[in-house]
Parts: sequence; structure tokens; C-alpha cells
Amino acid sequence: MVTARLPQDEIDRAVVALREGELVAFPTETVYGLGADAQNPDAVRKVFELKGRPATHPLIVHIDHPRQLERWALSVPPAAHALAERFWPGPLTLVLRRAPAVDLAITGGQETVAVRVPSHPVAQQLLRAFGAGIAAPSANRYGRVSPTRTEHVQEEFGAAVPVVLDGGDCKIGLESTIVSCVDAVPRVLRPGAITLSQLRAVVPEIVDVQGASVPRVPGSDAKHYAPRTPLSIVNSRTLEEVVRQLTADHGKVAVLAMRPPRAANKFMTWINAGRRAEIYARELYVNLRTLDKSGAREILVEEVPAGEAWDAVRDRLRRAATAENVVTVDPDIAALRADFGEDVLPP
Ligand code: AMP
Ligand code: MG
Repeated sequence: MVTARLPQDEIDRAVVALREGELVAFPTETVYGLGADAQNPDAVRKVFELKGRPATHPLIVHIDHPRQLERWALSVPPAAHALAERFWPGPLTLVLRRAPAVDLAITGGQETVAVRVPSHPVAQQLLRAFGAGIAAPSANRYGRVSPTRTEHVQEEFGAAVPVVLDGGDCKIGLESTIVSCVDAVPRVLRPGAITLSQLRAVVPEIVDVQGASVPRVPGSDAKHYAPRTPLSIVNSRTLEEVVRQLTADHGKVAVLAMRPPRAANKFMTWINAGRRAEIYARELYVNLRTLDKSGAREILVEEVPAGEAWDAVRDRLRRAATAENVVTVDPDIAALRADFGEDVLPP
């Protein structure tokens, strides 16, 4: 995994592009971002156009150091200070009241702004050299799987984004934890690598209200982070049986599991992503992209364990699945169980 710094001339070229109002894709520790000069409304608008993202869905402003926060936020409450101190640079985004100068194109017309200090050395190089804020969502078409490698950015945008800084594979692989510090009680708007208990160790009163409607978080749309192939979440016990049924007519299926298959099947592509949440998360989007290209009619994802270590993964999978596909229990399998009990299926 390459996370080294880039030669200065590459950074300088990216800075020139940003100053000219062009977009630059750059690595962060979470996913690759599609960046624009946050003080250039035309450049910011290009991000929305290129992604096909609705104008009401805000972008995160990336800054090189917490001290820049005062430029973007009207006020920084003590909880936000404490979180910034503990987790920046890192995979935490803070939502605060916006400073008057913050362009409404970035905030999706809202009075709040999302800010983050990324830790990736190349993101840091770029932000320092640019010397100002970079507004960036994930570098993918709206609603699709986020990129964790430069080749993903190329798959998404090709020549439309000429400057792509290569920082290797993203270490975390899932988008940042978003915490709103706008109201008296800070709230988690999107789960990420920083867990609720880690946040509460710093600010005990934080609550977890994912899916809350205000302020808007694109990642909270019902369908997001989605491959093109329909995706269903399937209980581990029924996985092989669902595969058997879906391949009965020799159609292909793709499986993302935490274990090896218990039965061979030449019509399936099976990825064993293992049982370690951190590694599973890092490879999730790569794996979804691989399975999406396998020519399968459906992607089956083994349901991940309960518990906060899996919160971010569970959240992304739930949104990648079509709502009605969360936990498929085939009627035939239910019948099988009724006839023979749970034992007919592998534990
Ligand atoms: P993306 O990485 O493409 O999901 O885009 C950046 C993320 O930051 C999105 O999920 C945004 O909704 C979130 N975000 C940006 N500004 C705000 C805000 N004011 N309130 C809530 N979420 C925000
Ligand atoms: Mg995104």
C-alpha cells in the first residue's frame, strides 16, 4: 500500500488546476475525494454537475489544520473543539453553523457547513500547498460505490477529471463519521471508522440519530453506495441455499461473505472478506466493484455481525441494498425449515 508523499511538482500541478477552477481527485484516508476550490462557486458547481449530484446535497470542506475551522464556522462550540482536538487529522467530519462567507452551493443551501481535516499525507500536502479549503465529496457518480483507488476514479470519470493524485489504497475505505454540533446535543449523522463509544469518550452526551432528516446527508438517501447489480443481504445460514436457487437455471451470482463457501457452485463468484471489521471495511468497495463486474444477476452479501465495530459497514450495505432486499429469506427455505427444523441448513 502506497501512502507516501508525492513529488512536489505533482502537487503544484494540482494546485494550479484548483486555482484555475478545475477539479482535482485526491486521496484521503477514507475514500478518494473530488475536490474544488471551496471559495470558487463555479468550481463547486462543476462538482455537482460531474457527479450528477442534486444541488441540495452538501459537500465537505477539507482544511489542513483545525485552526482553519474558524474561517468556515460561525462558532465552534466546546464539544466540536474537543472532538477536533482528539480526532483531527482523521476520519471525522464536523457539521457546524456556517460562517457568512461560506458559499451556499457547498452547503446545499443550508445554514450549516461540514468540515474535516484529513490525515492522508497526500491530502495534507495538497491542502498545505493550496493554502485554502477544498470542497469535496467522494469521487464517484451520485449514488454509486465510493472510490478507494485511483483506478476507481478513472472508472467513474475517465478524462473528465484530468488531475488524479495517486495516494494508493485508502486505509479506512469508508466515508468519515459525521457529527453535527449544531444543536445543544451533538448527533452522529453518519457512522464511520470512529465509533460512537470513541466519540462518547470525548463528549459523553453525543447521541446516535442516523437517518435523521435534518441536516441532509446524501449518504443517508435510501439507495446509495450501490453497485449496478442488484444487491441483497442474506443471512449466513441461508446463503448457500439462496445461491443454489438463483443458479438453478445457470444464471450467475456473486457473493460477499465472511467465510468460505460450504458448497461448490460453478455459477458463483465468492469473495471471502473475513471477519475482521476493519479489514472488511477497507476492502468493501473494492469487493463490491469486483463483484459488480463479474456478470452476476445478483450480488448476495452475508449479513454482518451486530455490534458497533460493524456499524459503518452495516450502514453502507443497507443503503447499497434495495430496501426490500435486506435479509432475503426465501419462502422455500422457510418451508424447508418448517419441515425439517434449522438443522437442515448449515450452522
Ligand atoms: P460524500 O462524500 O459524497 O457523501 O459527500 C460529503 C458528505 O458530507 C455527504 O454525506 C454530505 O451530506 C455530508 N455533509 C456535508 N455538509 C453537510 C451538512 N451541512 N450537514 C450534514 N451533512 C453534511
Ligand atoms: Mg459519496
